[in-house]
Amino acid sequence: MDKDILILGGGPAGLSTALHLQQQAPEFTSRLLVLEKAHYPRPKLCAGGLVADAEILLERLNLDVREIPHTDAQSAHFDFRGRGISVSVPGSHTLRIIRRDEFDAWLAEKARSRGIEIREGVTVQSVRPDEDGVTVLTNQGEFRARVAVGADGSNGQTRRAILPGEPLYTARVLELLTPTYKDPSRPALEKTRGQVAFFEFSPVPQGIAGYTWDFPTQIGGQPKRCWGIYDANLPASGQRPALKETLAAEMKNCGLELADYELKGHPIRWFDPFTRMSVPRVLLVGDAVGADPIFGEGISMALGYGKVAATELAQAFKRENFSFTGYRQRVLTSPLGGTLLARWLLTYLIYTFRWSWFQSLLWRVLKPFVILVAWFLVLNWARRMR
Ligand SMILES: Cc1cc2nc3c(=O)[nH]c(=O)nc-3n(C[C@H](O)[C@H](O)[C@H](O)COP(=O)(O)OP(=O)(O)OC[C@H]3O[C@@H](n4cnc5c(N)ncnc54)[C@H](O)[C@@H]3O)c2cc1C
Repeated sequence: MDKDILILGGGPAGLSTALHLQQQAPEFTSRLLVLEKAHYPRPKLCAGGLVADAEILLERLNLDVREIPHTDAQSAHFDFRGRGISVSVPGSHTLRIIRRDEFDAWLAEKARSRGIEIREGVTVQSVRPDEDGVTVLTNQGEFRARVAVGADGSNGQTRRAILPGEPLYTARVLELLTPTYKDPSRPALEKTRGQVAFFEFSPVPQGIAGYTWDFPTQIGGQPKRCWGIYDANLPASGQRPALKETLAAEMKNCGLELADYELKGHPIRWFDPFTRMSVPRVLLVGDAVGADPIFGEGISMALGYGKVAATELAQAFKRENFSFTGYRQRVLTSPLGGTLLARWLLTYLIYTFRWSWFQSLLWRVLKPFVILVAWFLVLNWARRMR
């Protein structure tokens, strides 16, 4: 055996699994190895919005994300055709926006400084569990361990290898970067949107199960805006409306031409409570299981999966039982599972009833109800993670 535990993928889910294991059971530090196909800092398409739950999980690992460049959105606005709900946290930021190349490289550096071994440039090609362990074939040869953790994201190999027949629920997402509104021709927009993370749900009646976003961000210290469009691509909808045109129309409302910027796309696998999350000797974390289906928010979830998986792994080694039959139950009954289940149900509610009058009701009239549901069911779960 090369190691006891191989973690396949060094994004937030894989690194969180390693960091939580190191924290919960330091004796595992030298017994685990993270295999990452890229080299840090590596690009990762993501708007980089960190909700408070992500920061709570990081703080509990004694990590302070303010060490890396970030932009704070003072409020989040959820809009439907010009009116909606604004949320802010008195005396604090509402959303902290990081760049993923910087964030993931920082997390990897923190893991290394705590003695965790990470090998970069190792691409997992196949994962083969057997009775005594698991064999992982990579571009750098074969690795053998007692267990493996699939943390290789929405397009990863691990899930495909161990659960080939499982249904896939995948959101379509497009993203691009533009200059800020600090242009003399757009003073009104700078005032209304400058410090705001803006979510626009007007695409819903067109059959898009999602929204467009417009966040403040920075690249190399230069302020920018990050725009994008998310479509959960619900199996029930049966349609695939064009995302690019819808995003272009939203951007035009702010005086921006989509064609002037480089547009990129990446899928997000979202959580479904009936999906399997492990097989004997291999368990999955992060997008390999599924992110939030309402917004495609997955960084806090990835950090949360890492914590649950670390507890599962420590107990498996204690009992010398690597069936992981209780892992799904452990995820579902955790505060992480609670928020994922709530978000899964809300996704079908918000995006199935896509009539304009319903969206107006939701984002304009039912404000107190929406805020209460968000506060108690969607957010504030990480503090309860034990
Ligand atoms: C356009 C877009 C915008 C988003 N915006 C937000 C946002 O604002 N806020 C938010 O919370 N979430 C956002 N998300 C979701 C978020 O990016 C993911 O949920 C999150 O990255 C999941 O973390 P992960 O560690 O599971 O996977 P990843 O971050 O994808 O990490 C997987 C890691 O595994 C490595 N890997 C992949 N394949 C292999 C292989 N074969 N061998 C070895 N290594 C491999 C990759 O290089 C990567 O480092 C967004 C996603 C997209 C696509």
